[in-house]
Amino acid sequence: MHTKAMVLSKKVFKDRHLISDVLLEDGSKKTVLFFGGQGGGSKSKPSTVELGFALNLSLKGNHKSRIYNCKDWTIHWRHLEVENNYKAYFLLNFFCEVINNVSFEDMNESSEIGELYTILSNACFYLDESIKLNNFDMYRSTFMFLGKLLYSLGIFPDTHNCIICKDKLIVGTYFNVLDGGFECSKCSDFQKPSEVFTNLQKVMFTPFKKYSDFTQLNLEQSRQIYTYFIQQFQINPHHIKSSQFIYGQ
Ligand SMILES: [Zn+2]
Repeated sequence: MHTKAMVLSKKVFKDRHLISDVLLEDGSKKTVLFFGGQGGGSKSKPSTVELGFALNLSLKGNHKSRIYNCKDWTIHWRHLEVENNYKAYFLLNFFCEVINNVSFEDMNESSEIGELYTILSNACFYLDESIKLNNFDMYRSTFMFLGKLLYSLGIFPDTHNCIICKDKLIVGTYFNVLDGGFECSKCSDFQKPSEVFTNLQKVMFTPFKKYSDFTQLNLEQSRQIYTYFIQQFQINPHHIKSSQFIYGQ
């Protein structure tokens, strides 16, 4: 099988190989053994299997195991700037870990799941671009990524009606993370529109390349959307290790 895939994880296997989870273009996840994936050898080749790289793979199934073998691959796209910025590198790890937690081996039929590849590849590409253009903002990138992901997975917070009184929402003033929606100014102590509300309304219509259209979010607002995400998906927070570098404990 020839396919394009993005690298989600890597583990050293024996002296020169790697075992990685990869996300295929159709949105399904596969575990792949890359022969010689660590690089090195007599010519000291660098590894070309890195988190967030998009690779052209030639995969061979193995009837004894669910791990695919790969001896031939080329780089389709790679980030060039991310390694030079440790915050961006944590964020790249975070994107890959989140996608690894919401993707499955056999779920490649529905179009929603197919969007995972588009979301991850755009998130990585524009993360790299934002460093090149010197407009990298960790919380804005996180918000854009999680917003697109929630929308595609069909677990977007309700922005139409107040979560308490059910009236039509003109502005959501408080994000009620536990109940998965917004409270109106009559039901909450807040009067001003919540930045999370304003940006969530924009997120479905804003392509990744326009991400500077978002108002800058602070840590707390970004944390709210992340908390909502792990709660909706019932993910144990400890399973996404890179989140501690972004949100703390
Ligand atoms: Zn209300």
